[in-house]
Parts: sequence; C-alpha cells; structure tokens
Amino acid sequence: MDARQLSGQLGVQEKEVVEHLAHISRSLAAKGRKLVIQPSECLQCGYVFKDRKRFTRPGRCPQCKKSHLKNPAFYIR
Ligand SMILES: [Zn+2]
Repeated sequence: MDARQLSGQLGVQEKEVVEHLAHISRSLAAKGRKLVIQPSECLQCGYVFKDRKRFTRPGRCPQCKKSHLKNPAFYIR
C-alpha cells in the first residue's frame, strides 16, 4: 500500500504514516525483516526513483520536470 491508502485504512494523517514507517522499518530490521519500498514512478516519462530511500513522495521528476508521479508503495519482506 502507499501512504495515502495506509492513511485511509488506519485513520491517521498521511504525514503520520510516513513517520510511523520510519519506526516500522527499524523494528523490522531488528527482527531480520525488511520494509521494502516499491519506488515512486513518473507517470509522464516512466522515470523510476529507485535510489530514493525516503518514504515520502518526491516533488517532481528530475528527467521531465513534471510532478505527475505515482506514490511509493510499501510491503514487508
Ligand atoms: Zn518524468
């Protein structure tokens, strides 16, 4: 799920979800599991933000400068 979907499911602000994700990521690492980020993608030119480690959505695409981006999504491995 992405932060917006989690926000809807959990009834907390999207901003809070992002803060929680940082905690969850650390807790999981301690248990030998991993919070995997499915990177954000530009819906305009297909650029993938694969080196981005943050949980927030990027502002705009570095390639085409548009801000028509897919939210990063998260899952647990
Ligand atoms: Zn782009």
